[in-house]
Amino acid sequence: MIKENLEKIRATLPKSVTLVAVSKTKPVSDLQEAYDAGQRIFGENHALEMRDKHEVLPADIQWHFIGHLQTNKIKYIIPFVTLIHSIDSANLLEAVNKEAKKHDRVVDCLLQFHIAQEETKFGLDLDEARQLLESDEFKQMDNVRICGVMGMATFTEDMDEVRKEFKHLKEIFDTLKAKYFAGQPQFKEISMGMSDDYPIAVEEGATLVRVGSKIFGARNYNV
Ligand SMILES: *Cc1c(COP(=O)(O)O)cnc(C)c1O
Repeated sequence: MIKENLEKIRATLPKSVTLVAVSKTKPVSDLQEAYDAGQRIFGENHALEMRDKHEVLPADIQWHFIGHLQTNKIKYIIPFVTLIHSIDSANLLEAVNKEAKKHDRVVDCLLQFHIAQEETKFGLDLDEARQLLESDEFKQMDNVRICGVMGMATFTEDMDEVRKEFKHLKEIFDTLKAKYFAGQPQFKEISMGMSDDYPIAVEEGATLVRVGSKIFGARNYNV
């Protein structure tokens, strides 16, 4: 079933869009099945769970961290993480930079923006991002590389609202690109869209979609 689901989703995605298979809460056997079906990019939202899966699964998997990252958990993922989607504060970015330096790595990161109506979702607003990007601290951070933006739409059936929020994230991306990342080809990612709304996200310019339940089935608990 996982293989069929992956094939179905891949068939709908343009070449410019990369599928992140969100495997949080799912057993290693499910990830292996997706791997055997050709999937190489997996998204997880708990540091220890991601580390444990990384230890037992094939080494050519690219691990994307997509959840709220606590600073005391950074150390578990820095040695191997490919992309952190969820930088939601200057402090977090600084802590990631510090840990990455210890491992002599430059870690790719996305800035997470709060685009939803819900209060509970993490993320920066444009002013906070500007402050971060203009700060002296940021200019000293040689061990992180900002590759784009990420956002989560409101949990709603109102697809007009969802589309509006994705458009907003695309505008944020364009604004930051023009002001801070012109001529920097690495700043190219827009991570938006999940199982229920990824087709809209693709229409609105997503380059990375994060799809979980449409691939692996419903999760046992909602995280
Ligand atoms: C769980 C999660 C997803 C995937 O959600 P589905 O609705 O199962 O596709 C995507 N992004 C983030 C940040 C998540 O936590």
